[in-house]
Amino acid sequence: MAASCHYLLSSPFTSGLPLKTTRTTTTKTRPPPFPKAPIIIASSARPLRAAVIGGGPAGASAAEALALGGIETYLIERAPSGSKPCGGAIPLCMLSEFDLPSSLVDRRVTRMRVLSPSNRAADFGRSLRPHEHIPMLRREVLDAFLRRRATDAGARLLPGLFTSIRLPLSDSDPYLVHYTASPSTPGSLAGTPSALAVDVVIGADGANSRVARSISAGDYTTAIAFQERIRLPPAGMSRYEDLAEMYVGADVSPDFYAWVFPKCDHVAVGTGTSAAKPDIKRLQAAIRARAGPKIAGGEVIRVEAHPIPEHPRPRRVVGRAALVGDAAGYVTRCSGEGIYFAAKSGRMCGEAIVRAWKERGVVTEADLKTAYLRKWDEEYRGMFRFLDLLQQVFYGSNAGREALVELCADEYVQRMTFESYLYKRMARGDWRKDLGLAWRTIGSLVRAGVMGWEVDRLKGIGADSS
Ligand SMILES: Cc1cc2nc3c(=O)[nH]c(=O)nc-3n(C[C@H](O)[C@H](O)[C@H](O)COP(=O)(O)OP(=O)(O)OC[C@H]3O[C@@H](n4cnc5c(N)ncnc54)[C@H](O)[C@@H]3O)c2cc1C
Repeated sequence: MAASCHYLLSSPFTSGLPLKTTRTTTTKTRPPPFPKAPIIIASSARPLRAAVIGGGPAGASAAEALALGGIETYLIERAPSGSKPCGGAIPLCMLSEFDLPSSLVDRRVTRMRVLSPSNRAADFGRSLRPHEHIPMLRREVLDAFLRRRATDAGARLLPGLFTSIRLPLSDSDPYLVHYTASPSTPGSLAGTPSALAVDVVIGADGANSRVARSISAGDYTTAIAFQERIRLPPAGMSRYEDLAEMYVGADVSPDFYAWVFPKCDHVAVGTGTSAAKPDIKRLQAAIRARAGPKIAGGEVIRVEAHPIPEHPRPRRVVGRAALVGDAAGYVTRCSGEGIYFAAKSGRMCGEAIVRAWKERGVVTEADLKTAYLRKWDEEYRGMFRFLDLLQQVFYGSNAGREALVELCADEYVQRMTFESYLYKRMARGDWRKDLGLAWRTIGSLVRAGVMGWEVDRLKGIGADSS
């Protein structure tokens, strides 16, 4: 630490214009070999230096975009061989947009079954075209692949725990990123506090983001998600060959849904809630009971839990530091989906930095706000708000959930839902069909309002507020 401060005082970088240095790179270059010392410094005639904290889909995608653009990129990840608790469902468009090989995909789901509080089932999938499916993968596989691609592009992976940032005192100061190196960090002493002087920082360190705290980005509320990975006997696994299940009901989640998602040799069974966090184990027991005989005889091979952000952070760009993925709060409330948005925001932010650097040789807060934040909000804010609204209408009561399942049986609803989910664009409807759908929605809600109370009464669930 003392050594790093000494470096800063004597660094030619501290006396430069706001990040204005001789621009040496306009095409992809590999950074110089990794130095032996724990403090990484660069010469004044150098490319822009960026630290990406967190090597999940957001951080790995940001690091890849930066490295491909010739930025000297450091990717700090505390657990490169770990696995993020996650259902692992991604939209189909992510495979092509992120050039993911099909070998990463464990299962191709063509039947998504939604089960209502009274166990009425609606099977999504009739409207799928022949090549369409929901890819299911394991996060340890996806994240390792994305990180490897980032390092192949020239980013340097620093296995270690990010601890804090010393913020710049002026526009021309670098950020000093502190971290504790893990044993596998090349050229460093494991457990030694290390520091990295960089020009820009991307916080991709998930829902408990320390980067967000370090830059005073403000708080957001989180839900909690709990998941068990259960290895089923062969007959049980073959049932889930191309099938995923979503269970709705106050018993399994008072505000979201529970799931059974298939993986290579196991199923992920989980639930999430923001309304009843202390009850998460009770809710998990309920989804296991609902899935019942379908998961009987299974062996629990992993139990995992993690917070899920519910809204974007109050500030996602502060100075030359930007938040992406869960750290920024990019998870849709209705579906708890965040993998695609993490990777997309990481890439978008990385590309915004590269563009500013190439075009003007300088990266400022205004660049990040315009080329990353504004672009993101233009593309996705409407979609997030719409999904928020759906969550409020359909997940707030068992009556709403019954209506949801009734609507899910509708072929037009299925087509529109899949279009939006698989391709991440608000599907363009036909106004006559939309009008018909509006009527059917009202009809379902009215019918379910009557039926939902009855179902609750009969099942003795009735704890929710419908
Ligand atoms: C149980 C559960 C099920 C889910 N299911 C789905 C699903 O099916 N589909 C979907 O799209 N989304 C799902 N999500 C949401 C999805 O997991 C997240 O939105 C996504 O992981 C966000 O990616 P990220 O890269 O922003 O953050 P993360 O994946 O959380 O990655 C953050 C990375 O930062 C690292 N890190 C954190 N702190 C530090 C530190 N101090 N120093 C160094 N490294 C650090 C972590 O080790 C991690 O690798 C689920 C979430 C949960 C909890």
